[in-house]
Formats: sequence, C-alpha cells, structure tokens
Amino acid sequence: MSQVRLQQVTKSFGSVTVIPPLDLTIADKEFVVLVGPSGCGKTTTLRMIAGLEQATSGEIRIGDRDVTALRPGLRNCSMVFQNYALYPHMTVAENIGYGMKVRGTPKAEIDKAVTEAARILNLGAYLARKPSALSGGQRQRVAIGRAIVRQPDVFLFDEPLSNLDAKLRIEMRTEIKLLHRRLQTTVVYVTHDQVEAMTMADRVVVMNQGRIEQAADPITLYESPRNLFVAAFIGAPSMNFIEGSLDQGDGGPVFRGQDGVSVPIPAERVSALSPYAGQAVILGIRPEHTAPASGSDPSIKLKVTDIEPLGPHTLAIGKAGGAAFTAQMPANTRVGPDDSVDVQLDAQKMHFFLKSNGEALP
Ligand code: ATP
Repeated sequence: MSQVRLQQVTKSFGSVTVIPPLDLTIADKEFVVLVGPSGCGKTTTLRMIAGLEQATSGEIRIGDRDVTALRPGLRNCSMVFQNYALYPHMTVAENIGYGMKVRGTPKAEIDKAVTEAARILNLGAYLARKPSALSGGQRQRVAIGRAIVRQPDVFLFDEPLSNLDAKLRIEMRTEIKLLHRRLQTTVVYVTHDQVEAMTMADRVVVMNQGRIEQAADPITLYESPRNLFVAAFIGAPSMNFIEGSLDQGDGGPVFRGQDGVSVPIPAERVSALSPYAGQAVILGIRPEHTAPASGSDPSIKLKVTDIEPLGPHTLAIGKAGGAAFTAQMPANTRVGPDDSVDVQLDAQKMHFFLKSNGEALP
C-alpha cells in the first residue's frame, strides 16, 4: 500500500506562508497531477512529500508510515526532475544504476535492474553512451530509468517534460502513462500545463495560492468546474465569460449582459437558479459549445476582430456582451475580421458563477 496522505500540512518560508493548511490524499496506484499557475505551491508540495523540503506543520504519511520527519532517502520515493540531473561523465547504464551502486547493491543485481529498466524504456541500444550523445527525450528516459530501478513506493515527477519540444512532450506523456499502467506505482506529477494534466491524470488537483481549488477526474473538472478559477484554468482555448445578472424576462428568467445580451435560462435550471435572481452573475461558455446561430439555442452577437483557422475548425475571436469572446466556427467559415456574427450558445453547456465569490451556481 502506498497511499500518500497530507494532513493539515503547511509551509512557510520565513514569515511568508506559501501553503496554508492543506489536506490531500492520493490513493494507492493513483496518478495524481498537481497543476496551477506559477508560484501556486505545486513544487513545494511535491518536495515536502519527497522530504526535500520540511513541512512547517502537519503530517505526511506514505502507506502506514508517518514520514513527516524522515529524511528523503528513507521515504522510498523516487523523484524525476525537469532538468534530468544526469551525471555527464557516466554512461547511461552507470547513470541508471548509480543509486543502487551507492547503496552497495551487488553488481549482478544492478546489471539485472538496469537491463530491465532499459528494456521498459527502450534504452537498450544506448546503455554505453554518455548523456551528451542522447536526445532530450532519451535523457529524460534515463532519468526515469534511474527512478524505476529503486522500485519506489511513490514516483514524484516535477515538470519532467518542460524541456522537451512539443512533439516529444506528447510522446513522453504517453510513455509515462504506459509506464504507470505497467508498474502500478502511485504517481504525483507536477505541471503548469493543464493539457498535460488533463491527458495524464486519474485525478487533477488544481492549486492556486497554496490552496486546492478543486480535485477531480479530468472530465468532471472540464464539465463541472467548481468556481471561476477552475473554469478559466481548465480548457484550451479557455472558457468565455460574460458579466451580467439574472432577471425576469417576458418569457421567463433570463441572463442579461452588456450590449443587449439576453440569454434565456434553460427550463431545467430555472428552479435551482431562481434564488440568485437580481444578483450579479457571470455566464461561462466554452468556445467549443458555440456555433453560428441556426437552431433554437440562445444566441449573442459577436464582433469579430480576428480569425484563427485551426484545420478541423476555425476560431472567431472578438467581443460579445462587453467581454473578450472566442467562438468556434466551421473550418470553411466565411466570417472574417470586422464582421458581426450571431453565435449560438449550447444551452445545456452554459455555466453560471456568482460574481461575488466566483462559486459555480447549480
Ligand atoms: P512554478 O510552476 O513556477 O515552479 P510552483 O507552483 O511550483 O511554481 P513553488 O515553487 O512551490 O510554486 O513556490 C510557491 C511559492 O513559494 C512561490 O511564491 C515561491 O516564490 C515560494 N518559494 C519557493 N521556494 C522558496 C524558498 N526556498 N524560499 C522562499 N520562498 C520560496
């Protein structure tokens, strides 16, 4: 069992608290990704699990052990860093086996573990090379190999793909996911890249200023963000937001925003939203849930300033309801800059947030 449990864990540097009391449980064999903007405390949290940073207060448990006061070497975690941290004068095989050698493991056992790690990571042909003769992706695989041979209870990854080019990053994402499936080891993975988080994680933990905004599986985060922060952070291109209020219209409750925006509230949501009538509310809609107006869904007017043809579809970027707005158009759209276009919003995919605290409304 290698569940990781943080209970009321805090971290302060001098008088500055970067992690207020944090509770987080990562299940045995789970792949959890910590994601959030720069400086939100992801790396600090990971380093506290590794023991590279001492928690200021609270308790950290791995399996049934309280590791809060243990030094890193005794926690049985393996950490993979962004910069690979390989020894340049050693071969790939020596790099992978180095930790075992230091611990006095017999050579035959090291060779066996290195061969097995190289097989899993497709590094067999490079064992005699020095890191300088490897590509970025191969170097990162060596760093992962070094983590594997320790047979840790928990793998910790700190932005391991940041130094790789876009194509390689996508390949390595898949490799790390396959590796997790194969080794069935608990993983805590830090990234600032929400796409990486969404594609790799069993569960994504969205952090902001040392706090957890929401922890959920990727689809729940995407479909039911708990608040404005998560709604804005998850999804690319990001969700559109229009400020306004909930009002009583002629035909029933409506959302009213600037520039004559008036969006009827779907019948099935009326009773849940009625307590918020008259309050300042923000309507959220993802670009992929918009289209040129045609059917019965509500529509708003978009003043287009730019067009981004992406291949499968085209993004029309501009302003609607007094806010920046991006709509998804068909690939062959004739809409261009300076056009005004009616954009329909998928009534089933609209989100509403209370302006005062950013909380999502039911
Ligand atoms: P990034 O994605 O930029 O790496 P992060 O979410 O990993 O960011 P942390 O590195 O955990 O953020 O940093 C959290 C906060 O703690 C930041 O404000 C950072 O400046 C501060 N911090 C981190 N390490 C130290 C330190 N050794 N001394 C003082 N402040 C620190």
